[in-house]
Amino acid sequence: MAEHNFDVVILGGGSGGYAAALRSAQLGLSVALIERDKLGGTCLHRGCIPTKALLHSAEVADVTREAATVGINATLQGVDMPAVNKYRDGIVDRLFKGLTGLVASKPITVVAGEGRMVGQKSISVNSDTYTGKNLVLATGSYSKTLPGLEIAGRVITSEQALQLDFVPNKVIILGGGVIGVEFASIWKSFGTDVTIIEGLPTLVPNEDASVSKAMERAYRKRGINFKTGVRFQGVQQSATGVIVTLENGEQFDAELLLVAVGRGPNTAGFGYEENGITVDRGYVITNDRLQTSVPGVFAAGDIVPGLQLAHRGFQQGIFIAEEIAGLKPATIDELGIPKVTYSEPEIASVGLTEAKAAEIHGQENISVYEYNLGGNGKSQILGTAGFVKLIRKNNGPIIGIHMIGSRVGEQIGEAQLIVNWEAFPEEVASLVHAHPTQNEALGEAHLALAGKPLHAHA
Ligand SMILES: Cc1cc2nc3c(=O)[nH]c(=O)nc-3n(C[C@H](O)[C@H](O)[C@H](O)COP(=O)(O)OP(=O)(O)OC[C@H]3O[C@@H](n4cnc5c(N)ncnc54)[C@H](O)[C@@H]3O)c2cc1C
Repeated sequence: MAEHNFDVVILGGGSGGYAAALRSAQLGLSVALIERDKLGGTCLHRGCIPTKALLHSAEVADVTREAATVGINATLQGVDMPAVNKYRDGIVDRLFKGLTGLVASKPITVVAGEGRMVGQKSISVNSDTYTGKNLVLATGSYSKTLPGLEIAGRVITSEQALQLDFVPNKVIILGGGVIGVEFASIWKSFGTDVTIIEGLPTLVPNEDASVSKAMERAYRKRGINFKTGVRFQGVQQSATGVIVTLENGEQFDAELLLVAVGRGPNTAGFGYEENGITVDRGYVITNDRLQTSVPGVFAAGDIVPGLQLAHRGFQQGIFIAEEIAGLKPATIDELGIPKVTYSEPEIASVGLTEAKAAEIHGQENISVYEYNLGGNGKSQILGTAGFVKLIRKNNGPIIGIHMIGSRVGEQIGEAQLIVNWEAFPEEVASLVHAHPTQNEALGEAHLALAGKPLHAHA
């Protein structure tokens, strides 16, 4: 049994944990990073990166299928799923090598194995103990299911969905949130018959209502079936498929059922509560400086209540390292964190929805403008419908931006600068956007909201 001492001991090498490690090392702190699986965590190996690679293959399938619309003769001969997976794994492997090399090049001690808190500042791994002046808990999340709904056989989560080496004929997806609509998009493009079951009244229910409505329109047009406001009751499996029953008695059959009902915090069994960490429904509770109920113990990423996104984890990891180093970083504004859903069409948003803005400021104190991508040259070239919606406080800054359309995710960078820098539409309107870009749609929307529309019909 060996004892090791560090300035910072980090449990979990995913987005939150490795960001904390890299920034701590930069700041001259001695760091141990404990990981039981692979550095990079969910995002790199089972989340962001592999799904976006599949979405790119899916886009190529769509482009090939529709090539004649732009005068190109091509035929989609099929989807070679093992080859798609090879392409995807190649990307993950390259990024994994890059990340491992980056971490190895810094004074960071990577410890392989499962860690468990054994004291307020100590974590045991196998027979060794790692004690930190500070601890960072970043153990991530797992795919949730519903009570009584067992993940087995033809009932799968995103982890198994990413392992499939064939394109299923027919799939039911339980959950119309980000992960559900992204898989629906992938499979539909690959030729699968897809039905989404969502308990809330709309698809992507966390987005602005007009975005949810536009998403439903786009999915209807793509032939993606969905049922909203309906509750799942049960599933029966046979050798060839599943039969899903809703509470209203309706039944649907398919080859597979993908359960995409959200992700739960991965905190059980790691000694957190036993060592004084306040945990609520599995989530580690922190203050706005990401400190847990135990001084000197911090938490980052999906185990902290809030948006479960990789870039939030990165930012929290950086914040914690700077906090430990005494740099007194500015707190992270959750509302300023950008969100992208990478389906076709894409959704990108930051700040308040119209409903939330009206609730906070009063409908009479906000102005809303929706710029239709119909007036945007590049979007027309790409053949996409959609819009950019802006919400401003009257005589004040932009407080929400919501976009839908092919590739709009790439526009979130400017959108988040506008919202987080509290820009006024008049200020953005005076900045030039290149023509023809989709980015121009953001510029046009600000021109219109500043009272000087250019290519805008309304
Ligand atoms: C299908 C899917 C798609 C996604 N797409 C996106 C996207 O496009 N964009 C985006 O921003 N986010 C996306 N996410 C979410 C993103 O993956 C997570 O928000 C992010 O990975 C959270 O980082 P984390 O550090 O909290 O946890 P994780 O990345 O889950 O890392 C936690 C790490 O801790 C390790 N660990 C856990 N317990 C222990 C222990 N006791 N001892 C040692 N090691 C331990 C785990 O092995 C893991 O490597 C997606 C998620 C999924 C599932």
